[in-house]
Amino acid sequence: MNEPNGDLARIHLIDNRNGRPNSRNGRLIVMSNRAPIRIIREGREERIEPTVGGVGSTFLRLLERNGGLWIAWSGGQKTPPPKLMPPVEPRFKMIFAPLGEQDISEYYHGMCNRGLWPLMHFMTPKCHFSTHQWNRYLRVNQIFARIVCDEAQPGDTLWVQDFHLALVPRAVRQQRNDLPIGIFWHVPFPPEQLMRILPWREEFLQGMLGADVIGFHTQSYATHFLNCCQRILSLEVSHERGEVMVDNRRVRAGAFPLGIPADFFASLAASPRVASRAQRIRRSLGTQLMVLGVDRLDYTKGILERLLGFERFLEQNPSWHRRVTLVLIAVPSRTKVSDYAELKRELDELVGHVVGRFSSEGWVPLRYLYTQFGAEELVAYYRAADIALLTPLRDGMNLVAKEFVASRVSDDGVLILSEFAGAAEELTEALLVNPYDADQIAERLRQAVEMSRAEQSSRMSAMRGKVQANNLERWSESFLAELSPDRGFGQGTSEAVPV
Ligand code: UDP
Repeated sequence: MNEPNGDLARIHLIDNRNGRPNSRNGRLIVMSNRAPIRIIREGREERIEPTVGGVGSTFLRLLERNGGLWIAWSGGQKTPPPKLMPPVEPRFKMIFAPLGEQDISEYYHGMCNRGLWPLMHFMTPKCHFSTHQWNRYLRVNQIFARIVCDEAQPGDTLWVQDFHLALVPRAVRQQRNDLPIGIFWHVPFPPEQLMRILPWREEFLQGMLGADVIGFHTQSYATHFLNCCQRILSLEVSHERGEVMVDNRRVRAGAFPLGIPADFFASLAASPRVASRAQRIRRSLGTQLMVLGVDRLDYTKGILERLLGFERFLEQNPSWHRRVTLVLIAVPSRTKVSDYAELKRELDELVGHVVGRFSSEGWVPLRYLYTQFGAEELVAYYRAADIALLTPLRDGMNLVAKEFVASRVSDDGVLILSEFAGAAEELTEALLVNPYDADQIAERLRQAVEMSRAEQSSRMSAMRGKVQANNLERWSESFLAELSPDRGFGQGTSEAVPV
């Protein structure tokens, strides 16, 4: 197998304070639970498809541009050999972590999806913990750490993604003290009192503290983390500087709100194909207004609450009957986990209830699409809608909110956004809503349908400005600049301690 072209695989980490490459000239190593691609085998042929949406496509774009290395689980039970990506004119190397069936069941479906996911989203009654799942989580984190230790060259930078791999920073540091290590937390971080529910809370926090820089979407999540370090681990913390002292090392924990590739969404939205597809969607609904909700089918997303709010709106505003349609895109997710299967049943039932209660000849108030769209079709829905109604009960960021804003190239439309989404801290011109309050959702919908075009435009253009300014590129630059050796990270020596 060919190695990626040396020049292409080198990245120059840009110091965004002065725009000059800093003193590091090494590769970026990205690590995430899931790979950004799917390998599809058809007979003897093999096809690689990028996975759709979310963080995967975010980093795919980053590495395709800068080169480097990506370490991830393939998503299946077979471990493919390393791949050069993209297949034509490769820019980076993809290495797959060898996880077996038991690893996937206990580490991924168990510890990650049924334990840590609800804990991180403050939903403690949904947390299921077991020691053998925790031990498997530990083992898988060690597998990932081992790959980095084998592959990393002096001068490389490791950027770990998310709560699946919280123990990797410490496991790598024990072996490769020379690497700057960052971890970005794509989910919320719970307050200290909730974090105490995790039976292995000390080990978990210490695992994260192996990093030099720990990034969260918002300052409140960073503050929760700092409080945990202070009160659970009794470490010295500076809230002012966003720092924790660990073994005479300074660990920085702060807010780095994730951005989106805003230009990509804007140019897709402006394309004639998407514009005409958006018109066809609108014609097929036949109503004056379209309200849109888009999420993975997850209990953190407040989809049932959204529907109850919409039902309340229809109850209170009969004049809007026959004039508005709610389009609900629900992406199938974690269908093997019982809480998700239960949610699907409840949603199907509630959709049936609302449709049955309000439909009349020639009008169905709700279109429910249980599917996953590619970017072009999704952006056509973003363009077709007048109002986005996004009501997560708790969300790290909510990229859909930013993508909707970036796609509103005519500066019109209204965003109704849960105050419990990380995006609400930036998108303050949205109509913010408490998703637990059906009356408030109904009231925000009423405000949205009555909002003047001038007000829509002033709110939307302000939000578009923010999404453009803190785009994906700016976000990654600011995180990597924080991790740069100019700030004193990655200056240790490599000491071999068994992982
Ligand atoms: N998405 C998609 N196809 C769909 C619906 C959503 O590709 O049919 C993508 C969307 O573009 C967004 C991501 O899924 O990038 C959802 O990210 P978000 O932060 O809103 O929620 P998450 O699922 O990560 O919790």
